[in-house]
Amino acid sequence: MTIRTHILGFPRIGAARELKLALESHWRGEVSEAALEATGQQLRARHWALQRDAGLDYVTVGDFALYDQVASHIQLLGCEPARFRFDTAQSPLSRYFTMARGNDNQADHAGCTHSQAHHEHAAGNHALEMSKWFDTNYHYLVPELSPQTRFSLACERLLAEVAEAQVLGHQVKAALIGPLTFLWLGKEKTPGESGFDRLALLEQLLPVYGALLDRLKQQGVTWVQLDEPILGLDLPNAWRSAFESAYWQLNQVGVNILLATYFSPLEENLSLTCRLPVAGLHVDGIRAPHELISVTDWLPTHKVLSIGIVDGRNIWRTDLDAALAMLQPLAAKRNGHLWLAPSCSLLHVPFSLEAETDLDGEIRTWLAFATEKLVELSLLKGALEGPPDDDALAALAKSRLAIAGRRASPRVHRASVTQRLQTLTPSVDRRDSSFPQRQGVQRARLRLPDFPTTTIGSFPQTTAIRAARASFKRGELASAEYDNQLRAEIAHVVGRQEALGLDVLVHGEAERNDMVEYFGEQLDGFIFTRLGWVQSYGSRCVKPPIIYGDVQRPAAMTVAWTVHAQSLTQKPMKGMLTGPVTILQWSFVRDDQPRPSTALQLALAIRDEVQDLETAGIGIIQIDEPAIREGLPLRRGQWDAYLDWATRAFRIAASVVKDTTQIHTHMCYAEFNDILPQIAAMDADVITIETSRSDMELLTGFGQFQYPNDIGPGVYDVHSPRIPSTPDMVKLLQKASAAIAPANLWVNPDCGLKTRGWAETEAALRNMVAAAQQMRAA
Ligand code: GLN
Ligand code: ZN
Repeated sequence: MTIRTHILGFPRIGAARELKLALESHWRGEVSEAALEATGQQLRARHWALQRDAGLDYVTVGDFALYDQVASHIQLLGCEPARFRFDTAQSPLSRYFTMARGNDNQADHAGCTHSQAHHEHAAGNHALEMSKWFDTNYHYLVPELSPQTRFSLACERLLAEVAEAQVLGHQVKAALIGPLTFLWLGKEKTPGESGFDRLALLEQLLPVYGALLDRLKQQGVTWVQLDEPILGLDLPNAWRSAFESAYWQLNQVGVNILLATYFSPLEENLSLTCRLPVAGLHVDGIRAPHELISVTDWLPTHKVLSIGIVDGRNIWRTDLDAALAMLQPLAAKRNGHLWLAPSCSLLHVPFSLEAETDLDGEIRTWLAFATEKLVELSLLKGALEGPPDDDALAALAKSRLAIAGRRASPRVHRASVTQRLQTLTPSVDRRDSSFPQRQGVQRARLRLPDFPTTTIGSFPQTTAIRAARASFKRGELASAEYDNQLRAEIAHVVGRQEALGLDVLVHGEAERNDMVEYFGEQLDGFIFTRLGWVQSYGSRCVKPPIIYGDVQRPAAMTVAWTVHAQSLTQKPMKGMLTGPVTILQWSFVRDDQPRPSTALQLALAIRDEVQDLETAGIGIIQIDEPAIREGLPLRRGQWDAYLDWATRAFRIAASVVKDTTQIHTHMCYAEFNDILPQIAAMDADVITIETSRSDMELLTGFGQFQYPNDIGPGVYDVHSPRIPSTPDMVKLLQKASAAIAPANLWVNPDCGLKTRGWAETEAALRNMVAAAQQMRAA
């Protein structure tokens, strides 16, 4: 038996978000480049030590990045976009941060919780666009590619990191993004030229990769991991065949290439992948366990097979017995040679459980964060190589106990939830009447003007509000006092909206720190960590809740605030909820039941809240689903199934109300022309969407599709401090009226206002209300 262990990448942000703190101090000018680099070096050394101490055979070098690994590759490959006009006097690091953050001071991403890039600006050196790294919540910086793009090797930083690890006595495996995935992730920027295909750059790019591999080889690196996760996507044929020639060429260098795939089954790319002339292949045994047998059969035995057997995307302890049962026959087929790894980089899970001292003791035993996953790999290796020593036996027994405990725990399975699921009727996801009928009765009840104005939910969150919330959470502010402060804030927000003349008001969401956390904290089945941070982009991290058990709503979550707000005004008050798919998407979810089952439980919990709001007299309820699009599977073939259960979950949450209650939904971004029928199938009475940045382009799609229900196309961009003028917004509304029946149009900003200041918010909304008035007059 020769079993080797390694990882594809490690969370670089640090156990206590050291990298975040260092970066932000550096950007404020408090920490020098040298000091920031020193922090990076310390973190790398620490993370390699963890890998070695856990008994891994290789440490991984190259996964570290001060901001983003794709941005690091843009520098490594010498293709910084020419538009930045960098001069040679500028340090590489300052260029790197300019690409990442821009220097026009226009972009503002604070609080922008959704995935799409908001970096497009007319003037100045705006940052590179951001986009989601496959189906994760990590955002990478998008390479800009054009026919003028040239590549040249700038590998000093990478080689220095390799040397750092070697000096520390580590066995190094270098990790890089593969050339095809790098090009795939880029965006074609060809002003005035069409017909450019970024794949055409491959020929130029390959010699640079070749030179890079050669430098690594000269420095004594024997294995280089090249990440090509696009092999799990629906690839055009030209890209598929490019793999063969590209890897043939790279293999000439004579360094061992481990081709790494993850996140998605290989399917029709499986045999191609197995045939590529490389020394080894890594496959994702968590996302594609059903392909392991075929891969073992197809991959020639002289090649290394690395199996991603520990879940790199989730926080659950590995069921080692099940993993061993899966690995043993595979190891036998490979004559005892196997590499073991997490399914993908551990970037997507928190650093370590060690910090979680307050966590429920039982649930803690069910979890494994990045550091704990390293140990799992070693245990698996030991057990495969066998026979295990006493320590290993004890560790295996402990793991077995935790797995059994979780499986049997009454905290995971609630009879009341199971029973409720069994009694759902076929009409649970249907409103009583069709939209035209509902529209009639809702209009009679609400008596809104044409082009009704509203906002997306949150209003500016001042330092005072944040401070009150934080001290209430720490137990320093008494509940009654906190209540009073929030009620006063609601009164203030309602008063300002009345003064502005808005038609449908909101309470402002001052009680919410985060649109998922707020609900998760009040639902059964959720648990929260202290330091379970995961990098989202640059220095930004998120701390996803963990859904560990059956979800149920013990008590109303928003009714008191909403009812209080409604009591202060004659105008309709819109209740504000986060939808089931968004809660699911932004949490760590159970791996012991399918995602749709968890979505269904969440839907029922939100449904209960919707019912309570209606009973309390609230006539309009918004259920936000900004994450519905980002949940789309990587393979198109799986889209329909996902959209079926996701939109059903939304409808189940919404459909409990009578015809007279108006259901709104909100989605942040614009790219959903390809899923319009499914958006329509959600059957919300009103949908608000982001359109201002694309100049209402999206509405053409809605118009052509003849979207049947009401739409509120965002008429201004809340991510920019710019105050939109009335004529600007009138123009957008006129454009919208050309695509959508004016009687179905609403007027609103394109997202929540919590990151904005009051002055700009009021000025913008005043102009927006004036725009609606002009539209009515016309
Ligand atoms: N209701 C939320 C807010 O206004 C919506 C946020 C979002 O779409 N991301 O803040
Ligand atoms: Zn939004």
